[in-house]
Amino acid sequence: MQPFVYDGLPSRVVFGQGTLAQLRQELEHLGCSRALVLATPQQHEQASRVLELLGDKGVGVYADAVMHTPVEVTKHALQVVKELSVDCTVAIGGGSTIGLGKAIALRTGLPQIAIPTTYAGSEMTPILGETSDGIKTTQRTLDVLPETVIYDVDLTLTLPAVMSGTSGINAIAHAVEALYARDCNPVIALMAEEGIAALARSLPVIANDPTHIEARSDALYGAWLCGTCLGSVGMSLHHKLCHTLGGSFNLPHAETHTIVLPYALAYNAPAVPEAMARIGRALGCDDAAAGLYDLGRAVGAPSALSELGFSVEDVERATEIATRNPYWNPRDVEAKGIHRLLSDAQSGKRPQAESGGGQ
Ligand code: NAD
Repeated sequence: MQPFVYDGLPSRVVFGQGTLAQLRQELEHLGCSRALVLATPQQHEQASRVLELLGDKGVGVYADAVMHTPVEVTKHALQVVKELSVDCTVAIGGGSTIGLGKAIALRTGLPQIAIPTTYAGSEMTPILGETSDGIKTTQRTLDVLPETVIYDVDLTLTLPAVMSGTSGINAIAHAVEALYARDCNPVIALMAEEGIAALARSLPVIANDPTHIEARSDALYGAWLCGTCLGSVGMSLHHKLCHTLGGSFNLPHAETHTIVLPYALAYNAPAVPEAMARIGRALGCDDAAAGLYDLGRAVGAPSALSELGFSVEDVERATEIATRNPYWNPRDVEAKGIHRLLSDAQSGKRPQAESGGGQ
């Protein structure tokens, strides 16, 4: 028997097709009547349609959200919040837009409705990463957890095929690391396995037909489960490596996750046989690390960090940064092994699960 603590996070989830139509109702459920719609410049038009839908309960659109939640952007948005006497934010978009909603909530206490259009999972987490003067800091507080999340499958149909694949594998990464988290519990493990399976069966279908409704529905359902895993338990080596590669080498978020995941799992494999078995079962293969590598190829994702501009010379510095303050990890994080892991990810060679070295 394995003792555990299960800490359920409070959030209301509305899932389906056409659920955006319930937005006004959800706003009323929160007791709000002056919503500011948040988006990136690329999704400005979509945000304007959401504002229309809100009628007299919408006060404007703020469409300057960008990657990594810069504090400068948040400060500007806060001025708009004040000028328009906003009492709720509605974030429509991916992790970048939802991050802005969280940053506003942290400073104002305003309730949030998140409407995710990627599979990154931020909407289900009490985690906020912000950048100031080029430095990214991450904090965990319930103050930033969105009160309501509306998943509308229709809104994901425009997410381009390759981006869907990498965003989906980004979500899988949360579930993979949840399965060997120090604070994992049976409920999160169920969600993780189901989330990986739903994404693994749907992403290759989406790669061939981005408008396939059943596959899109499966993928969004999987993304919800995987986001819940990220919000509930601690992450390990894989997330630390991606944090390093994004923060210090400016590599793109979802693609980096997609490339690194099979190698991080191969590294941890000897220390986590039970997680390997569950991930393999969810993927429908014997070798979970190789299965994740193959999934990346099936969705047309880049296979090597070199394709993102990460050079052989960068491996040394990345190893040094990633091993400086490692997150807890089921296997010891030692420089030689991490150097090899990053070299393999840099070149994109097929991963091989390591043996020995458990903690
Ligand atoms: P993103 O939000 O940066 O979106 C990428 C681009 O795709 C943007 O231009 C966006 O407007 C566009 N886009 C989004 N949905 C679309 C759709 N359906 N159709 C067409 N275009 C669409 O990408 P992301 O991967 O969702 O988020 C990455 C960011 O989120 C990173 O900064 C990451 O650190 C953060 N994140 C945070 C958490 C957390 O828990 N705090 C979790 C995951 C990711």
